This record gives sequence, C-alpha cells and structure tokens, in this order.
Amino acid sequence: MIRPLRIGILEGDDIGLEVVPETIKVMRAAAAKAGCAIDWHPVPIGKKAFEELGNTLPTGTLDKLDTLDGWVLGPIGHQAYPKNNPNSINPHPILRRHYDLFANIRPSKSYPGIPCIYKDVDLILVRENNEGFPPDRNVHLGYGEFRPSPDMTIGIRVITRQGSQKVARAAFDIARTRQRKIVTAVHKDTVFKLACGMFAEECRKVAKEYPDVTFNEVLVDTMAAKLIMKPQQFDVIVTTNTFGDILSDAASALVGGLGLAPGLSAGPDRAMAQATHGSAPDIAGKGIANPYAMIMSGQMLLQWLGRKHKVEAALQAAELMERATEAVVKAGKVLTADMGGRASTREMGDAIADAVGDS
Ligand code: ATP
Repeated sequence: MIRPLRIGILEGDDIGLEVVPETIKVMRAAAAKAGCAIDWHPVPIGKKAFEELGNTLPTGTLDKLDTLDGWVLGPIGHQAYPKNNPNSINPHPILRRHYDLFANIRPSKSYPGIPCIYKDVDLILVRENNEGFPPDRNVHLGYGEFRPSPDMTIGIRVITRQGSQKVARAAFDIARTRQRKIVTAVHKDTVFKLACGMFAEECRKVAKEYPDVTFNEVLVDTMAAKLIMKPQQFDVIVTTNTFGDILSDAASALVGGLGLAPGLSAGPDRAMAQATHGSAPDIAGKGIANPYAMIMSGQMLLQWLGRKHKVEAALQAAELMERATEAVVKAGKVLTADMGGRASTREMGDAIADAVGDS
C-alpha cells in the first residue's frame, strides 16, 4: 500500500473518553518513530453523538467508516442511553455486522509484577462475533428473543457453517503465528447437538487444512474449570459468541482483570480495536481507568493492518507499542490503581508514549 493508512477515532462513552486519547497518543508516537504514515479521522458515536447530533450512530458515521481501513472504538455505555428511542441504539453490534467483523480476538497474558492469579498465562481467545445467542444481532430484522405469554420467553441461537468456518480459520491463522501452535475448540456438542455440533464439525474440517497446528476440543463447562485450574495449557481458544464473551472475561481475571484485556474485531476488509471491558461508568471521569487494554487493542489494530496491507512500518509500530507497554508494566512505576499503582490514566499513557520514544 502506498497511501497512508486511514484510521478512525471513535471515543465511545464514559472511560472511553479517557482511554482512547491515551491510545491514540501512543499509536501516533509509535507510527512517527516507525515512519508509518497514518491519516487520523475522528468519527462521532455514542452518548456525545446523541447529545450533539441526535443519534448514537449518526448519519454519516457509517459513510465515513466505509472510507477507512480500521478504527479504534472506545467502550460503549449503552445501558445509560435513553430507552425506547430509535435514535439511541447500541451502535457496536451494528458496526460488527455491517463490516462483517466476525472474529473477536481477545488475548490474556500475565506480566511479572502485576497482581494476578497466574504469572504464566499467554492465551488468545477467538470468539465468533455475529451469530450465537445475542438477540440484538442474531436476526436480520426483529429481535432474537420474544415472549409469547407473560410467563414464557423464547430466545434463539444462530450457528452457521460459514460463520463457524470463518472464525475457525481466523483462530488457526493466529495459532500459526505463535510458538505453541495449538487450537482448542470450545463447545457443548453433547447437548446442543445441532448448533454446537455444527460449530465443532466445521472446526474439525478447518483443522485438516492446518496439519502444522495441534487441534483439540473441550466442552464449555469443562473449559470453565480448566481455565481456572490450569490456564497455562491453552494457546488459542476458538468458540461461539456467548461462550467466548464469558470465558474471555474469566481469562482476563486470571491475569489481572478487565483493565488488562485488549481486543480486536476483525473482518475480511476492516478491523476495529475494542477492549474487552465495558465503559465502566463507576470510575468514569476520575482519571483512574487503566488505558492498557485500549492501548494494546490499538497495537493489535496496527499489527492487523500491517499484515493485511503489507505495511512493514505498521508492523514495526505495533512492535514498538508492545515493547513500550511491556517495559512500563514491568518497570512497575507508573501503573493505575487496578494494577497496584497510583498513576492516573494520563500518566500511564504518557509513560508508554515516552517509552516508545526511548526505545
Ligand atoms: P459490558 O457489559 O459493557 O462489557 P461490564 O458490565 O462487563 O460492561 P465494565 O464496564 O467492563 O462492566 O466494568 C466491570 C468492572 O471492571 C467495573 O468495576 C469497572 O470499574 C472495572 N473496569 C473496567 N474497565 C476498567 C479499566 N480500563 N480500568 C480499571 N477498571 C476497569
């Protein structure tokens, strides 16, 4: 690619307004150092967009995103949006579906010195992003949950061969880039014989295309226990939407909590950096949110863009971000409260941006 990369900045809500600016600061520093040309594009979304433009996903936001290669999306606090208003919808499932961001990639890695349950975890959970149980995104029109009578609710789950295959391939591709090269498919095909059964079948088929990657399967309830007892055995985990949502929060707790859990939603053409954590309204505005997860989500975006568009400088920038973040975490001097430190969000962002400059 000869033109600059085009990256959007969508701050989101609550702590998004604090952690996204730190992320962009670090990405800019790394891009400048690596000589990676990036055009940055602020794009309105969320509560602020509702207040200023009358819609949480204003007209023009999707048109703008169409022109971009990827974007950083801060957490969305949709629970606090006005209810029953068609202009205050939760925008991120729409982005995931509109751009077919089918793979939600969520790493959990322990670092020395950080208070955590295990000191030697290094796994990546790849979660199917657009099917499964979530009723606001598993149907084309309408809603995937309904109440035929006051005392009965029916919820549906969608699993397709194509969706399962795509996410399985994404997991095997990631495993190939790692040392241990193991993919574990998580499901419960003993009970959900058709839905989990289809997911498992497609994972097994895809596994045959990757003879260099070890493949195994674990039932989701067993996985919950194994993840708590011996998470070190896992390398790349692939699973369906809601199982992945739950297991990735659990995996983040093993290594120090949600502030340390980055994420990337990737599709065929675009990717969206989006930390695993929510908008944390309980700590918003206090300047104490941990920017690590959002910064490392931005790092994942640069790495994805570098690989996708064969931009060596973007890969170098991603490498610089990873090293700088690790250096600050290992030094242990400028950390937010959830990591056992006393630094503010901005101080930690500054320290990582400075470490990029020093590297
Ligand atoms: P969602 O359903 O939108 O994912 P959630 O219900 O999982 O959100 P979060 O907003 O992620 O909730 O917050 C869960 C807890 O983790 C809260 O106590 C919050 O303060 C804490 N938390 C989340 N993100 C961070 C962060 N970046 N730094 C420090 N604490 C955080």
